[in-house]
Amino acid sequence: MKSLDATLQAALDERRQQHLYRQRVNVASGCGPALGVNGQSLLNFCSNDYLGLAGHPDIAAALKAGVDAYGTGSGASHLISGHSVAHQRLEEQLAEFTGRPRALLFSTGYMANLGVINALVGRHDLVLQDQLNHASLLDGGRLTRADFRRYKHSSLSHLQWLLERSSARRKLVVTDGVFSMDGDLAPLVKISALASEHNAWLMVDDAHGVGVLGATGGGIVEQQNLSLPQVPILMGTLGKSFGTFGAFVAGSEALIETLIQFARSYIYTTALPPSIACATSASLKIVAQEHWRRDHLCALIARFREGAQHIGLHLMASTTPIQPVLINDDQRVNEISQLLRAKGIMVGAIRPPTVPEGSGRLRICLSAAHSEQQVDQLLEALESVGA
Ligand SMILES: *Cc1c(COP(=O)(O)O)cnc(C)c1O
Repeated sequence: MKSLDATLQAALDERRQQHLYRQRVNVASGCGPALGVNGQSLLNFCSNDYLGLAGHPDIAAALKAGVDAYGTGSGASHLISGHSVAHQRLEEQLAEFTGRPRALLFSTGYMANLGVINALVGRHDLVLQDQLNHASLLDGGRLTRADFRRYKHSSLSHLQWLLERSSARRKLVVTDGVFSMDGDLAPLVKISALASEHNAWLMVDDAHGVGVLGATGGGIVEQQNLSLPQVPILMGTLGKSFGTFGAFVAGSEALIETLIQFARSYIYTTALPPSIACATSASLKIVAQEHWRRDHLCALIARFREGAQHIGLHLMASTTPIQPVLINDDQRVNEISQLLRAKGIMVGAIRPPTVPEGSGRLRICLSAAHSEQQVDQLLEALESVGA
């Protein structure tokens, strides 16, 4: 038998030969419009800090006050002694923010998605997911013993076909609100009508929509005016627009109580530090009240798209701060991102298997923390490296 290391090394070498080897960068600064990397300052177009809140002083002050009040760790899971008054208050604020009766905090979005799907369906049930859903949703679907199928991206006819052919007891349709690698929106009004026509439940992961979409940042359900019966299971994350950490699920009393009783990734893990909940409460207030952040972000998105079209970049149909630039050769994606790095600009280089073969891209993320001038700098650099 080959040793552990020899076997692993062979697989690693193969990854490298495929030009798919991933490496981390060590960032020496906080998350902001500029990142300190290897003693260099790089313009940051790869974080999901859409509203520019990750470095906000009021949120940092709330975190520090939270540490003074509660210390550093929660010490236990929510069902033992880890559920603080700060967590409870934040859940109530998130329920109000989303216009849902209740909300429940999870430690990460990944865990929320695993927990929710597996608390709601099991053997003899059906889970239908958009093929471009986030990996955490797909993993959640694979973990269930339900019949798990993926429908073509935002295809209502494929979804309908799969729903019609099922006699499952419980049917769960799951979609991203904003797709994380493409930036486009799910056709939720139609998906929700289709789901209710077939007695299926709808879960929406709005990790990239909350904070950004809707008049008060309520996300895709606010923007498209989707009620609780239309989207009974709403998930959002707090590490992106909110600039802190964690995730939540919002819905009915029965949904939230079910998750508390049955979601294993909720039950068997340590609660977030209460100070994080304190920070998120401060963030939530800013998200809801500071409309100028969304207005400025929208102006930057329009500026970027207009400039990109002018220089002939291959954009996708995205109206959100996620603006992919398709590069027709998957191997060139890395080269181009390295050239951009040399010009002082950091963007995400996204290649298979994160996206389908042949659709490698630069994933450009805009933030309210950027200036118009920084967006222009990005466009100039993209043009000069031949993206
Ligand atoms: C980031 C993300 C998650 C995971 O959230 P974390 O809190 O980072 O674990 C889940 N779903 C989508 C669509 C995401 O973009």
